[in-house]
Amino acid sequence: MSEHFDVVVLGGGVVGASVAFHLTQLGCRRVLLLERGAIASGTSAQSSGILRTYYSVRPNVAVARAALAMFQDFKALLGDEEADCGYVRTGYLAVAPEGAMAEALRATVETQQALGIAARLVSRADAQAIHPWLNLDDIALCAHEAEAGFADPYLTATAFARAARRGGATIRQGTPARALLHEGGRVIGVRTDAGEVAAGAVVSALNVWSPVLRGWVGADIPCHASRHLVASFAADAPYTRAFPVLKDFASPLMLYSRPHAGAEILVGSGDAGDPVGDPDGGTGDIPMDWVAEVGEQLAHRMPRLAEHGRFGKAWAGLYDTTPDWNPVLGPAPGVGGLHLAFGFSGHGFKLSPMVGRMLAQAALALEPDLPLHPYRAARFAEGEWLTGAYGAGAVS
Ligand SMILES: Cc1cc2nc3c(=O)[nH]c(=O)nc-3n(C[C@H](O)[C@H](O)[C@H](O)COP(=O)(O)OP(=O)(O)OC[C@H]3O[C@@H](n4cnc5c(N)ncnc54)[C@H](O)[C@@H]3O)c2cc1C
Repeated sequence: MSEHFDVVVLGGGVVGASVAFHLTQLGCRRVLLLERGAIASGTSAQSSGILRTYYSVRPNVAVARAALAMFQDFKALLGDEEADCGYVRTGYLAVAPEGAMAEALRATVETQQALGIAARLVSRADAQAIHPWLNLDDIALCAHEAEAGFADPYLTATAFARAARRGGATIRQGTPARALLHEGGRVIGVRTDAGEVAAGAVVSALNVWSPVLRGWVGADIPCHASRHLVASFAADAPYTRAFPVLKDFASPLMLYSRPHAGAEILVGSGDAGDPVGDPDGGTGDIPMDWVAEVGEQLAHRMPRLAEHGRFGKAWAGLYDTTPDWNPVLGPAPGVGGLHLAFGFSGHGFKLSPMVGRMLAQAALALEPDLPLHPYRAARFAEGEWLTGAYGAGAVS
């Protein structure tokens, strides 16, 4: 093997790009990132880009809080005045009906507050003031997180990749990894069409393509792909960035929405999605029944859409889902030198800056700033699932 890298990162989505950046920031110079297509050409390109710390799973709150601070201070993090992740602070408003959802909302806010996050329960009148278009007749409890909002996954991933390159990393696009080379239970390199490179460690950030690791090194990869749809609608007035990200726990599809493209509403469903066998098999057509159903549920919450709502466009994307809808992060059991990052289950963008740092630290045998242990692959077998109050779906 003519080339040797301290760490090879597989996958140039927002997670892999973040790992590569953090590796260079931690002083590692011989870093190689392999991306089979272009940076951010995978599922990161399909993302709704919402940032929040609203999680019922406590470790997620801590990771999301640290990640949000990085989004907010992106230029300083990357040491580049030109860097832009597209962060827009709109706040996050969650509304819940009476019963289990209201209880989960109350508990979630308490968890956030315990970690010092500016989240609070708000009255329906306050919620209406934050979002004047809402019908809250069937809503019992509302919560608001002031610093939340959204950012741009393409800008974020490409900025991380550029900063990694400036820090000395080699980034090879159009270069799929074809196999991992291993010896004595340890990964020692990666094969591509251009040959083999030696690696001190490998961080795999292959998202829905992660199951390929089963064939390469026999790793247990509890991950399957599921298909999720997103649509945009316009009303009779611009839906500007003055409106918050909205989570509607009362809607049958558990809708989330946010301002989009200056004047539109982007909306997606928070359900379990449809299982997909082959992640490269295309994301399929958008059923108009789904558009009609989403439109109806959105119009229930924002009644002016019932008369004036217009469908814009829709797309489908893939989630890399694990049994508990939370990521697997850290060392691959039984395969020395291999670090895993998969299973973001539809909420990985908001975690990516901090997850990248934690994985880079682990790959360099440093203590991660926040514990990776809760996200270990063995948690399923050990019965320590990260099951949140919301079950299947991307809230967690
Ligand atoms: C519709 C939708 C909406 C979402 N909304 C949100 C949201 O609002 N907020 C949020 O936080 N998260 C959201 N997510 C989730 C979030 O976007 C993802 O968790 C995140 O982008 C995943 O990044 P990644 O780097 O793991 O994956 P990817 O971006 O998929 O990167 C993996 C990369 O690996 C590459 N690759 C595959 N095989 C190989 C190989 N053999 N060799 C080299 N490279 C390879 C692929 O080309 C790809 O670029 C959403 C996701 C979808 C689909």
